[in-house]
Amino acid sequence: MRGRRTSGAVRPDDIRQHNLSLVLRHVHRDGALTRAELTQRLHLSRSTVGALVGDLAQLGLVEEVVPSGGERVGRPSHVVAPHAHGPYAVGIDVDIEHVTVAAIGLGGTIIAREVLPTSPEVTPTDLVALVAGALTGLRTTVGAASRVCGIGASVPGTVDLSTGRVGVAPNLGWEDVPLGEMLEDVADGVPVVVGNDADLAVLAEHQRGNARDCDDVVFLMGRIGVGAGIIVNGVPVRGRDGHAGEIGHNVLDPTGPPCHCGKRGCIETFLGENALLGLAGRPSRRTDTEVADLFNDARAGQREALRAMGAAAESLGRCIADLLNILNPERVLVGGTMAELLDLARAEVEAAVERYAFERSHPGVELLLPAFGADSALLGSGEIAFTALLADPR
Ligand SMILES: [Zn+2]
Repeated sequence: MRGRRTSGAVRPDDIRQHNLSLVLRHVHRDGALTRAELTQRLHLSRSTVGALVGDLAQLGLVEEVVPSGGERVGRPSHVVAPHAHGPYAVGIDVDIEHVTVAAIGLGGTIIAREVLPTSPEVTPTDLVALVAGALTGLRTTVGAASRVCGIGASVPGTVDLSTGRVGVAPNLGWEDVPLGEMLEDVADGVPVVVGNDADLAVLAEHQRGNARDCDDVVFLMGRIGVGAGIIVNGVPVRGRDGHAGEIGHNVLDPTGPPCHCGKRGCIETFLGENALLGLAGRPSRRTDTEVADLFNDARAGQREALRAMGAAAESLGRCIADLLNILNPERVLVGGTMAELLDLARAEVEAAVERYAFERSHPGVELLLPAFGADSALLGSGEIAFTALLADPR
């Protein structure tokens, strides 16, 4: 959100677009702001900000309202807020047993959501058909006054961001799936963007959550699989093919259990949901309940469950230590099922980080839970869906 330097001749029209984009980004990220706050932040004149706000209001993107609540002396000052009936993004979070489809307003507010049960065997075609039905449902719920400006989808797999093609989503059994194109076929001309779940989770947390004031952050997402979303110096790190952060397949122990990727002893075989169940001597998951039961048993002091948590906490600490050594972040957010593991066994996780991280790379690093709980990836999918509108609000 820093000012952009341009060289050569700049047309007044470009400046106007740039400034409209700036105002809308600030309101989108920070919620309601007074004109005075916008003037101060953007280093523009009061009259320029007034004109920009007027344009955005005419476009139906913002509205000026009197904030509710709080006793105020004198005339209440209006704030510039996302328009209540402004355009919304559709966020889609594809998980192993369900898909969540939500209408997300400017400002990152979830207006409506549908959670549809699926299964690990769901085919891309079946999933897209489910999403198509949910899109129709959401349009009815939100009402015809608002339009959809973009669709973003989060997938637990590798994604080519430019094409929306899923390279591999191992826990869904998907390989080389043109998900972006398939969703476009049911999107009525609305643009579609697809991203990796951890990459999108870190985006949402950096925008408005527990990493909003922090430019070096890693989001470690652990559900069945384990992956990291990375922001370095404020910029998302995706790598050449979008595979950066696939830490779940770093080998912890080459003599360890076989991994679905073909190697042995990957982090995922010690830390994913099935790994947790296996450590407690339980069969692999069929539904979300087995993992929830395991956590409940651990909290109740059941011995095998606690032993499994201890072993997984050690692996989580090692995994975080690797990330600290390579990236030296200021914060690590732990999400998915691993958030619950961190919550339950924080002391063990921190002790393992202490043991395995390079001495200089970990002092002061904060291990946090995501601000948005299980919704980080969903909200991140909304963020990428807003990208085009935020770049050019006209
Ligand atoms: Zn592996």
